[in-house]
Amino acid sequence: MEEATAGLPGHDAVVGLTRAVEVASLLTAGVLVLANIAHAFTAGLLLHWWSPFVVVTAALGADLVSGLVHWTADTWFSETMPVLGRRFLRPFRVHHVNPEDFLRRDFIDCNGDVAMLNIPFLIAALLLPESGICGAVSLALVTFSIVSLPTNQVHQWAHMPAPPSAVAWLQHRGVILSMEAHASHHSAPYVANYCIATGWCNRWLAAVDFFPTCERLVTRVAGLQPRADEQSFAERW
Ligand SMILES: [Zn+2]
Ligand SMILES: [Zn+2]
Repeated sequence: MEEATAGLPGHDAVVGLTRAVEVASLLTAGVLVLANIAHAFTAGLLLHWWSPFVVVTAALGADLVSGLVHWTADTWFSETMPVLGRRFLRPFRVHHVNPEDFLRRDFIDCNGDVAMLNIPFLIAALLLPESGICGAVSLALVTFSIVSLPTNQVHQWAHMPAPPSAVAWLQHRGVILSMEAHASHHSAPYVANYCIATGWCNRWLAAVDFFPTCERLVTRVAGLQPRADEQSFAERW
């Protein structure tokens, strides 16, 4: 059921079984994160010469993946396509036409899906052997998940006129996505700063013209026009 606001599209209310699954996902992901942190310390995964390199690379990877997922959802496919359209693509269309609506989504609604998607990575990190390359992969997976899990929360904070003071402190120091960096994603032509986990990759990707190059490639290979669906969605409101 859509929670529309005066003349603008709104998010679908998350109720019933879907909400129960999101609560279970958040609890499971939380327990798995704690178990993985304990595992990383007892197995000494942070004490290797490669540990800092793995942690930084995985954290950057999480931000890059947030950008790739966001760019894919913003740019390609139709919100009317079966299953994924309503559940995955429509929230991105709604968010561009009515950004304020995002602030009406509660903690469970905002973070449940990302928690669900990270559970397999957190389980794999726990099950991997602790020695050699497997230990490095385990550390990479848990770092990736810890940075990925709050992606939507960080995004929502970037829309808040007055976020909690600790959050504002992190935003101002560039630790997490700042309001200014994200505001440029919501300004015409709406093609900047797709990375929303920490925002660390945005400047580098812009410098190498990463997403426009990807778009030209997809258009050449598949003949698709970027943002065609978004344009037709926006024209309806
Ligand atoms: Zn977007
Ligand atoms: Zn936004």
